[in-house]
Amino acid sequence: MPPLERQEEDQEADGLRKVIHVDMDAFYASVEQRDDPSLRGKPIAVGGSSGRGVVAAASYEARVFGVRSAMPSVRASRLCPDLIFRKPRFDVYRAVSQQIRAIFLDYTPHVEPLSLDEAYLDVTADLKGIGSATRIAEDIRRRIKAETGLTASAGVSYNKFLAKLASDQNKPDGICVIRPGEGAAFVSTLPVRRFHGVGPRGAKKMARLGIETGADLAKKDLAFLRAHFGSFAEYLFRAARGVDLRQVRADRPRKSVGGERTFSENIEDPDTLRDTMDSIIEIVWERIERAEARGRTVTLKLRYADFKTLTRARSLSHSVTDKAEFSRIAHALLEDLMPLPQPIRLMGLTLSALERGESETGEAQDGQLSFL
Ligand SMILES: [Mg+2]
Repeated sequence: MPPLERQEEDQEADGLRKVIHVDMDAFYASVEQRDDPSLRGKPIAVGGSSGRGVVAAASYEARVFGVRSAMPSVRASRLCPDLIFRKPRFDVYRAVSQQIRAIFLDYTPHVEPLSLDEAYLDVTADLKGIGSATRIAEDIRRRIKAETGLTASAGVSYNKFLAKLASDQNKPDGICVIRPGEGAAFVSTLPVRRFHGVGPRGAKKMARLGIETGADLAKKDLAFLRAHFGSFAEYLFRAARGVDLRQVRADRPRKSVGGERTFSENIEDPDTLRDTMDSIIEIVWERIERAEARGRTVTLKLRYADFKTLTRARSLSHSVTDKAEFSRIAHALLEDLMPLPQPIRLMGLTLSALERGESETGEAQDGQLSFL
């Protein structure tokens, strides 16, 4: 097998890209442990500990107990009784995020952030003329460690889909390279739930269709995937073969940030509806902070038991500035619709900067792939 640099020259000649996905390890939790030595080696969670709080990030010591992000704090404390909670300090996380962004920009202008702690870099033609994507990734990890005191993992490959899978492979503080020609084999053994864009419910749907791994997915033809996954069919078809045509796009405009939940049982009781609204506010507001999103329109989406879907929006003359205001508007939108004519199966909230009359249709929420 020729050396990696040689292969990379070949892939460039073939029109293949060199893509790195960099992902900080347990980012918020690691920043807290860095800044307070008494937290090092201990199970910690960033997020609110009381009532309806949600875990925004968990240290690796907490993950051993099964604590995960987006988990209700009450459940996290039950799993790990010694869990230490810290309030998020987004100003600090944003500052670190800018530090790592500056490091990335030393190597390439093609940097596409996914959130405060992860980004894709296209280094097909790197600014320092290093040539090897693997060497660039190692350089970047070394500099992040030196300049921020934090560890990052990196995935190196010839497209975004594979680079993101690779960065997850040897976490924490690891690197994984998927070379040209290796993508299809790498993907075939993986559970589909690890594919970017396939959420827990997407994975469940696939399991019902007999699709557990990349190899299972590769056996399905495009017509079958179209019938079951609509516009995601082509992405999935290519992904199962280690192919991804999406470009690394710097400064992608982010039009809206939101989230929604489908319930295992339909909800009708007004107090349960209000509690559910609170938990969605927690999750969505955390995404808004993470994305540094600004917007003046809050949209509530409800889907009734009979699948009829309705949205109600309210726009302010200024950007929504804090969680309390966001929460007030969201609850007002819900109260305006009460009593509901029938139980609901889904509730969602979005904050957007859209002007009146602009359509949100087709815009992936949170700027990321999502389906189901
Ligand atoms: Mg991360």
